[in-house]
Amino acid sequence: MTTTLVTPTPVTSDAFLQEAIDLAVANISEGGRPFGAVVVKYGRVISRGVNEINITNDPTAHAEMLAVRSASQVLQSPLLEGCTVYASGHPCPMCLAAMRMAGINEVCYAFTNHEAEPYGLSTAAIYEELGMTNSLRHLRLVHVPPQVEGCHPYETWAKARGIQVTTLS
Ligand SMILES: [Zn+2]
Repeated sequence: MTTTLVTPTPVTSDAFLQEAIDLAVANISEGGRPFGAVVVKYGRVISRGVNEINITNDPTAHAEMLAVRSASQVLQSPLLEGCTVYASGHPCPMCLAAMRMAGINEVCYAFTNHEAEPYGLSTAAIYEELGMTNSLRHLRLVHVPPQVEGCHPYETWAKARGIQVTTLS
């Protein structure tokens, strides 16, 4: 019997992207939509996610969103600086915003919205609509100026945290 020394193959971004695609494909037989994502930090997979919107009836249960939530739990922090997300498809605006707000540094994706379009899986129209003025969007965004009675939430928060409030110019 011979013993072979195996040198671990360094994990490349291609491998992480392939893992996201594999997750997307495997998710189909689970009743999910064909999207997968992995969160990586220091070359190590922190978390994985697949699209679960149909399984959970949670419209926010996108692959990237679930992977980000899970990564935050693993790292015990709402900030994911230094993390890269590998997604099987171009992230939707919700996930992109969530990743930006979490401080993620980079997102690599495999399939473009253009490639997803024939399958009804593109979110390009949502991006386009969000770039429009409020009056042209399907979703009405209504500002109702508050009649604050009692504590003002922002002032209470600033006071509780000792935050210096800047004055608007
Ligand atoms: Zn999304």
